[in-house]
Amino acid sequence: METIKPIRKKSLYSFTLSELRDYLAEKGFAKFAADQIYQWLYKNAEQNPELWTNVAKKIKDDFQSNLSIDLPTIIWNGLSTDGTRKFLVKMFDGQTVEAVAIPARDRLTLCLSSQVGCAIGCTFCHTGTMGLKRHLTADEIVGQFMAISYWLKANVSTEMKLTNIVYMGQGEPLHNYENVRVATIIFMEDKGLGLSQRKITLSTSGLVPQIEKMWDFPPVNIAISLHAAHNNIRTELMPINKAYDLERLFAAIKKVPLKAYRRITYEYILISDLNDRPEDIQGLIDLLDKDKSKINLIPYNDFPGSKFKRPSNSKVIWFQEELLKRGYVCTTRTTKGQDILAACGQLKSEYEKLNLWDHREKLTSRLESLS
Ligand code: SF4
Repeated sequence: METIKPIRKKSLYSFTLSELRDYLAEKGFAKFAADQIYQWLYKNAEQNPELWTNVAKKIKDDFQSNLSIDLPTIIWNGLSTDGTRKFLVKMFDGQTVEAVAIPARDRLTLCLSSQVGCAIGCTFCHTGTMGLKRHLTADEIVGQFMAISYWLKANVSTEMKLTNIVYMGQGEPLHNYENVRVATIIFMEDKGLGLSQRKITLSTSGLVPQIEKMWDFPPVNIAISLHAAHNNIRTELMPINKAYDLERLFAAIKKVPLKAYRRITYEYILISDLNDRPEDIQGLIDLLDKDKSKINLIPYNDFPGSKFKRPSNSKVIWFQEELLKRGYVCTTRTTKGQDILAACGQLKSEYEKLNLWDHREKLTSRLESLS
C-alpha cells in the first residue's frame, strides 16, 4: 500500500465540530466561531471565506495561512438513462475514486468511496481486482460529498440536494475505520449537514475485528455483504471468509449496537447456479433471524470478462418469493446505472483499468456514448 505523503495543508473539512472548537481555542479565538464556520461550510455550502460575514477576519487569516479549504476535483461525470450519475473524483495526489448519485422517489443517495481500490478482493467485484492503493482521509470522504453537492447545484439545479449516504463505493469502509468514523461524525453534525443516522448506511464485507469494535462508531444503518449462506461458496466469492467465516461473522454481528434500526441488511448477490438454489434459501433461513434481518437481493451485474452469470428474472422472483413466504423482509435491488458501469461491483476506474489516463478524451467520449 502506498503511504499518504504530507503534500498539502491540513484540510478544514477534516475537523469535527468539537475539533474545530479546540483548534480555535488553542489559537486564542472564540470557540463559538466553530459553529458559524460549520454553518457556512456545510449548511450554507459557501466555500468562499470572504463571504462568511459573521466570522472574524483574524480567523479567516489564520485559515488562509494554515489550512486548506480545497475540495477534490470532479474530472468526469456520466449520466445513466435511469438518472444515476457517476462521478470520477480526483484527489490531491492524482488518485481517482468513483462516487455515484442515485435518485429515488424522495431522496438522492450518494454512494461514496472510502479507499482507492480495495484489499478485500471479492471475486465478483471490479474494484477488487485493483488491490488497495491507499485509504482516503476523512476530509477526502467528506470532500467527495461536498464537491458533488456543489457540482449538482451548479450544473443540474440549485435545489438539488444529496439526502442519503451509503458507503458502498470503492473500498471496505471498516478497513479505513478511523477516517470513515470521523467523516460520519462530520456528516451527522446538526450545525452542519445534519444527516440523521437513518440516512447513512455502512456496508461491510465482514471485517470481524472492526465489527467487534463498532461501539464507538456513530449508530448508522449496517449492511453486511453476505452473498452466500455456506462457507465454501462464500469463500469462493469473498476470500475474507477464509479469515472470518460465517460462524465468526455472526458471533460478531450479535454484538453490533443497533441503535438506529432493529434490522441489519444482508446484501446477497444472486449468481446463476452458484447461490440461487433451494439449499441456499435454507442456508439463509438457518443463519438469519427474520425479526432482525432484511435481505437485499442483487442480481449479479455482468462486466466484461466476469466469470459469473446473472440468473434469469424468473429465478430472481422465485428466490425472493420463497424468502417472503417464510416471513423475511426481502427486496430485490433494481440495478441502476448499469450502462455507465456504476452498478455495485463495477466501480473500478475505467481510466485505470484501461490505463488510458493519457487518452482521457477518447475514454470520456466512449463512456459518454453509453449515457
Ligand atoms: S465488493 Fe466491496 S469489499 Fe469486496 S472487493 Fe469490492 S469494494 Fe472491496
